[in-house]
Amino acid sequence: MRFDALILGGGAAGLMCAIEAGKRGRRVAILERADRLGKKILISGGGRCNFTNLHCQPGNFLSANPHFAKSALARYTPADFIALVEKHRIPYHEKTLGQLFCDRSARDILEMLECECHTAGVSIFLNTKSDEVTRTTEFIVRAAHDEFRAPALVVATGGLSIPKIGATSFGYDLARQFGLNIRDPWPGLVPLVFSEEDRASYSDLTGVSTEVIASCDGQQFREKMLFTHRGLSGPAILQISSYWKKNGPIQIDLAPGRELTSIFQDAKTPRTVAALRSELKKSLPLRLADRWLELHPPAAWTNSALDTFEQKTHAWDVTAAGTEGYEKAEVTAGGVDSNELSAKTMESRKVPGLFFIGEVVDVTGQLGGFNFQWAWASGAAAGRAL
Ligand SMILES: Cc1cc2nc3c(=O)[nH]c(=O)nc-3n(C[C@H](O)[C@H](O)[C@H](O)COP(=O)(O)OP(=O)(O)OC[C@H]3O[C@@H](n4cnc5c(N)ncnc54)[C@H](O)[C@@H]3O)c2cc1C
Repeated sequence: MRFDALILGGGAAGLMCAIEAGKRGRRVAILERADRLGKKILISGGGRCNFTNLHCQPGNFLSANPHFAKSALARYTPADFIALVEKHRIPYHEKTLGQLFCDRSARDILEMLECECHTAGVSIFLNTKSDEVTRTTEFIVRAAHDEFRAPALVVATGGLSIPKIGATSFGYDLARQFGLNIRDPWPGLVPLVFSEEDRASYSDLTGVSTEVIASCDGQQFREKMLFTHRGLSGPAILQISSYWKKNGPIQIDLAPGRELTSIFQDAKTPRTVAALRSELKKSLPLRLADRWLELHPPAAWTNSALDTFEQKTHAWDVTAAGTEGYEKAEVTAGGVDSNELSAKTMESRKVPGLFFIGEVVDVTGQLGGFNFQWAWASGAAAGRAL
């Protein structure tokens, strides 16, 4: 079968690319290995799909080349996607921090994209896993018993996260096959696992949640943190996990903006564990306050020892043993080196006609709708160039 362009992967990026190319009259085919399109869209945002973020900026993305994403993000903005959502009369709301979610279900977003594909005349092949790609004067994709040919090939096969729903290294393998450099991938937006010592100290706090500032590698996030039976999770931890390098510490301010020991400046306040505990409980969840004091009591009741206690509570150094890995990661960081691609079109500089879009590229969004915005923007950039 012959087309103007073949798109490998019918996720967020592949669908947007197909729509843009189809609208411009190109004969495009999506080859999707699963039995349906957009499985990740369906499970995203707790089933409500956080489809974009009103405050999307290049600074919300992690990449070896922080400038690479700018052009695509500027040419397909959150407002462009919102216009599409509104055209389809999909009800949505801002949850927090500019994050837009469907009121009803993520299915609304998938059905909208499927409908746009249909209108744009996109051919869709499900249960069609691309096994092998070769290139003569055109690209030839072998999938099961079929052979597809086109002068342009778009790789939109996503990253390694959530192997359970079919994530594979196919996109990276293909990039290597064509001589493109890969930045070693790692799991991002993922819960952290405690060291054995910390697990023994904190794992029975499972379910306790508190607002913190988590920082490492020059980045910081003020959001909720959650204790789990194996370590730490919650938005602040998921955010910082993308920037975390193994063995490095993560610093956690357990009581951002609050002074815990200032009450002791008043000479009438007794300097006792009971008084400090009652202060701590005004700022921390009760069980965490008790445990913190049990494990890190002030060394004495002097001003300097209280200062040290205060500082430590605002700068808890956690050295995680690792992360929960790709099984639990919302995204894969690293990927096809952006220096290999045109920032305007996502086309390979070395192999004309070969494009990479979405999560397989070394551009990773922070939590909050940014990964979908990158999928839409990079998909649109390639789709307009086909
Ligand atoms: C649980 C969870 C929740 C998330 N929630 C959000 C959220 O609310 N907001 C947000 O912005 N981001 C969210 N993300 C991240 C977001 O889903 C991804 O960044 C985004 O889906 C990437 O789009 P993509 O098209 O590049 O890849 P994918 O959506 O992964 O699509 C890749 C497609 O390629 C197919 N494929 C793979 N190999 C082959 C092959 N060999 N042949 C044919 N097809 C193949 C796959 O089956 C898949 O359909 C979430 C991720 C997870 C795991």
